Formats: sequence, structure tokens, C-alpha cells
Amino acid sequence: MQTVSCPGCGAAVVFRSHASVMAVCEYCKTTVLKDADSVKDFGKMSAVLEDYSPLQIGSSGVFGGRAFDVIGRIQLRYAAGMWNEWYLLFEDGSAAWLGDSSGQYTLTTEKTASNKLPAFADIVVAQTYEIAGLSYLAAEVRIADCIGGQGELPFKVGPGWQAKLADFRHGSNFLTLDYSDVVQASDDSKVDQPALYIGKAVTLSELKFQLLRDEDVIKASAGKFRGKITSLNCPACGSNMDYLPGLTANVICSRCHSQLDSSGTVAQVLASADRMSKLNTTLELGAKATISANSYQIIGLMKRKDDENTVWTEYLLYSARAGFLWLIETNQGWAKSQVLADWPLWYHGESATLANKSYGKLYEYQAKVIYAAGAFNWRVVVGDSLKAIEFGNGIRKLAAEISADEITWSLSTPVAADQIRAWFGDNIKADKAGKFANAEETIATLSPQFIFWLLLFNAIPLLSDFESNWWVVGLGVAAIYYPAKFLGPAGKGDE
Ligand SMILES: [Zn+2]
Ligand SMILES: [Zn+2]
Repeated sequence: MQTVSCPGCGAAVVFRSHASVMAVCEYCKTTVLKDADSVKDFGKMSAVLEDYSPLQIGSSGVFGGRAFDVIGRIQLRYAAGMWNEWYLLFEDGSAAWLGDSSGQYTLTTEKTASNKLPAFADIVVAQTYEIAGLSYLAAEVRIADCIGGQGELPFKVGPGWQAKLADFRHGSNFLTLDYSDVVQASDDSKVDQPALYIGKAVTLSELKFQLLRDEDVIKASAGKFRGKITSLNCPACGSNMDYLPGLTANVICSRCHSQLDSSGTVAQVLASADRMSKLNTTLELGAKATISANSYQIIGLMKRKDDENTVWTEYLLYSARAGFLWLIETNQGWAKSQVLADWPLWYHGESATLANKSYGKLYEYQAKVIYAAGAFNWRVVVGDSLKAIEFGNGIRKLAAEISADEITWSLSTPVAADQIRAWFGDNIKADKAGKFANAEETIATLSPQFIFWLLLFNAIPLLSDFESNWWVVGLGVAAIYYPAKFLGPAGKGDE
């Protein structure tokens, strides 16, 4: 341990690790660089943004039987959100990184590569790479901006510093290649190797964490509880919607469909949406269910379609005790699905293996988001399309969803319609015949509603300009909507 005086304010700045080259003064945020025999002022570091993480500098835990302390942190932002890299110091002086992204954690330590590692530009998501003796699947590539730092760190970072990262998976094994410092020489043979970090997906409880920030501390600094369903007002239209502070940074307003970023203390509009009709769904945003004795609420929903224009609905449910769960409603029935932290092994063949069970390939198709509303733990954009590959073993299905930046795996099992009724009780809009509202929906059946909303939106200026004439507009809308509803293709509840 080494204590120096902050060149900015004179306060004591402690370097606990020999490997640390910089530390951020906790009083004046000056970045203090440690040289062999001097201390330099490297300018001010931006304060970290409140992000509801339970971790903090000073938290401690145990990994592989060895105790560690959290001594530093960098906060990074990329297109789909924000995450932390926490710098850990073990009692034996070695170091590790704990990635902390919306409640998902990975612990890695730096290793020396034995073989030549791929160049950043050559990495293709979902392709297989031999690294450190294992076949890893490229899971994610991203370029992120450092937006803040705290404590001590083993390299120089500051405003404008960019991280270029590629994550790889093999089952629960996790690996990161860090290209942030790689210099691309004109001669290809001179390209530096990226830094290599190897580890695994972990949970806070398996790391036996102590001195975490508790709910009240997070509430005191963020104004909200982490992971507790909370309302925010859409900055674009003022309507109220639910999200989960610290877990679902991406919110799509269910009324005006603006894309919002709720990662800060005030929600910000990322993009306003084209006018879009609100689509009817069997289950609605906010609907509550009791599943395996846990209370869940629907916080996000989206409709997607495949190459053959078959439409299905996906509902994102959240339980404070049990976390996230997806319900998927297709014209074949219902399924529940969970995103996997431990990945199946798959090498582009006709089968994937999970927990020693083989899943045969069933289908491959493009899945395009045609409607989304509510809160999500990743960026959902209407119009975005990704490749989906499904594998089956009996009634269980594995699905890989592959975009240019990322692959995710989920495991689903069918759920009987009666079970859905039992879970949601009165929250289901089943029609008189007892069939679910949109069990066999196609886009065409939505046209009456679409016309209605289009008219209503177009009428809004009229309404505000000629308040006394609102009923004329209302009649006009009704005159067009009702015939369309009755004469059109079987609408909701018409049977
Ligand atoms: Zn200072
Ligand atoms: Zn809105």
C-alpha cells in the first residue's frame, strides 16, 4: 500500500495495489497518476453516474477460496446501455475484473495468450474461435465510451477513452478480448495482441459479497429502489409507465412509442417513433400473475414476425424474487422462456448441447420486431431484425438469437392455455368463446384499429383548435371505426 497527496486538493490518495497506475481522488475527482517516484495530475475524472448497482468501492467477497476487495471502477456506455467494470484486488496481490451489466455479472482475470488472437475487425458474432485451448463462440462485440471512474485502476483512463471489446462464451466459461490499446500497424503482421481476460459468469451470492450498498442507500442516492417496479413520465407525451430502475434502462412509451433511456435519474428521449397504432394483446402491460408462488408483472411486450409474416407476441415479466421471465404466444400456443447464463455448446452444426442433452435443429428464420411497448433490459427497436435458430429436445426448445453485435440463448417449455389462465386470472382478455384474443392473429385483422388510431391522431390538432366541435370529430371517427370493426375481418371479441 502506498499513500500519496492529491496534487489537486492535498487529500490522501491510497494505492492499495502495486499494479495500479492511477487513482481518482475521492474528494476532488483529480486523476492521480503514479510514476516511479512522482505523482502527476491527469485532469479531472467525471463522477460515475448513479446506476443502482449494489456494488461499491470497499465491497468485499470471496472467489475460488480467496478473499478480494473492490478497489476501483470504470463506468462505460455503449449503444444498448451502461455497465461497470469493477477492479478487484485479492489478498495475494493479484487482480481481477467484475463486469456488472444490468444484474448480470462476469469475473475475469488477465492471462497471456498462447496463440495468435483474432483482430477486432475479423470477429463475427456466433462464429467459433479457438482461444486458450477451448472453442469459444463470439458472443458480443462492442465499442464503449468511458464515462466515469472511481478508486484505483491498473491503466490510464479518462474522458474520451474508448473500450473496444469482444466477449466469448463456452458454457459458463467467459472470455473477453480487450482491443482498447491495440495499435493497428499498416503492416498486418505488426498488429498488437489484444489483452486477454478469462473467467466465468457469476452471481453476487456465489461471491459471498459483503458491504454491498443496501436498498435504502441506493434509494437515498438514486431516489428510487433498484429493481422495484417504478413509474416514470414519458418526456415526450407525459403518460405514465413502469420500469425497473437499474435493470431496464430501455423503455418504449406505450402511448407515443418514443424510445426512452431511463438509465439516468431523468428519462431521456432517444428517438421519437413514427405514429403507430396500439396493438391489442391477450395480456396487457402491467398485468399481474402468480407463477410458482412468485408475483410477476408484465413490464414489456413486443410483437415479432418471421419471413412468412407469421406474427407472435412476447411478454417480458419481472418478479422481484425470481427475476425475468418471458411468455411467448404463438398460433401454436404458449411457452415460457428464460435467457441462459450458462450457454449451450453449439458449433454451427445440426445440434446444440445443454446439460449433456442434445437438441436437434428445428428452424432458422429472421425475426423482425413490428411492435414494442414497455421496459426492456436491452435495446429494442421496431424494425430491427435478427436471425433466430431453434433446437428441440422433446418439449424443450433452445433458441439462439443472433444480431451483428450479439448472440443470446434462451430455453423454453410449452405452457397450457389453462395454465396461463390460472396464472393471470381476470387479467386475460379472453373472448366469449373462451379463446384467447389474438391466438390466431394476423396483421390484416388489425386494420380497423389502425384506421381508428390514425384518424384519432390526425384529429388531435382539430380537437385543440376547435374545442367546441370535438363531438363532430368524435362522430366522424365513430362513423368510420364502427363499420370497419363490424364489417372487417374477425376483430377482437366479435365471435
Ligand atoms: Zn483531491
Ligand atoms: Zn410517450
